[in-house]
Amino acid sequence: MSEPLVMACLSDVAGLVRGKGFALADLDKRCRSGIGWTPTNVQITCFDGIAPSPFGSEGDVILWPDADALFEADIPGAPTLRMVLGDVTDRTGAAWTCCLRSHLRAAIERLEAASGLEARIAFEHEFMLIGQGAGPAFSLSGFYGVQDFSQALIAALKNAGMEPDSLLREYGPSQFEVTLAPKPALRAADEAIALREITRAVASSFGYRASFAPILDADSVGNGVHVHLSLWDRQGQPRMFDPDGIAGLSQEAGAAAAGILRHMPDFAALSAPSAVSFIRLQPHRWSAAFANLAIQDREAGLRICPVNTTDPDRVAQQYHYEYRAADAAASPWLLLASLLHAAASGVEESLTCPSPSSGDLSLLSEDELAATGISPLPRTPEAALERLESSQVLSGWFPDGFIQIYIDHKRHEFAASQVQSPEEAMQSYASIY
Ligand code: GLU
Ligand code: MG
Repeated sequence: MSEPLVMACLSDVAGLVRGKGFALADLDKRCRSGIGWTPTNVQITCFDGIAPSPFGSEGDVILWPDADALFEADIPGAPTLRMVLGDVTDRTGAAWTCCLRSHLRAAIERLEAASGLEARIAFEHEFMLIGQGAGPAFSLSGFYGVQDFSQALIAALKNAGMEPDSLLREYGPSQFEVTLAPKPALRAADEAIALREITRAVASSFGYRASFAPILDADSVGNGVHVHLSLWDRQGQPRMFDPDGIAGLSQEAGAAAAGILRHMPDFAALSAPSAVSFIRLQPHRWSAAFANLAIQDREAGLRICPVNTTDPDRVAQQYHYEYRAADAAASPWLLLASLLHAAASGVEESLTCPSPSSGDLSLLSEDELAATGISPLPRTPEAALERLESSQVLSGWFPDGFIQIYIDHKRHEFAASQVQSPEEAMQSYASIY
């Protein structure tokens, strides 16, 4: 009988899951003693290059496995996948500058302090299932053709403690989409991290390859990560809906939306962080190209989602919006940290929610767009990084020095992909994510 192992992991700046393994039997002990981690690992890019690091070869930090974030999934014909996520501290026990899970905790606390509300998040992930003929989009034949895989995936996610909501054969070639039930933000992010790993493992056990990369072919559609957000009070009551509010949003939800919209162009580099992410984030891709709020429009940066009832109580339970300018190259911890800081800033300043836009914003001239007050999202990864770099507000959301480390990381990654053609770069990302 072989010894079961578990890996203590973090989701890093590259959006990859890295860590160290040990015997499962030692998990309790390791939760108390921690695992040594190397500060410069934060600068290992998705291509395994090492970006300039302020830490060099020096120093040690500690990764603390969180037993509540243990995911164990049975993978057909393969070993059980076991991962336990955790926070990273310095040697005094203080949250480490580059601990993305701590960044999310801080954003959750800020939103709670500003509004008294808790964000619940549902992650919707698109991915390409490479290596099988998936049949036409949304077709039963496409769905049935991989039903063994789909059933094994849903079983593995449930087995790992998640609540999958649905799985569908999406529009793009061999594209599928899996959605999880809403959870408090930290749990939702942990689950999103595990979901990608479990999906890839189940796919490979069936001889396929699942790729969550933002886009694999510029002539086709991308893989979005759509983040559904709702706000709830301490009594567990929904606080999103007000029939008299702008776009049907409560004061807090409207202010949070205004904060998200105000900062979206600045934090796009954190939510859509790869060198190919902005091939996806262009008009007419049903992704997101503007920092706009719109009702049931799949091109909106922030989309008010539909409800399926007219009963006022049930409308209130269901009402929410969806942030669409994210992809799976982003660590879910950092993505949600950005989103919740932006939302909290809107609540703190009691910002007024802008009226929802309608129509195709890409048809407006620069002046016409400026008159709407809506900003376009950056159109290139470099432009997104420049927006991030020039935002003092964004730097203030994170511990001193973190944003500069992030920017150095991404510049190094982009330099490596710039020696490739766009097609080669998309293929490189497809093989990693
Ligand atoms: N594939 C689109 C994206 O990149 C989303 C399509 C949809 O589900 O609305 O975000
Ligand atoms: Mg979709």
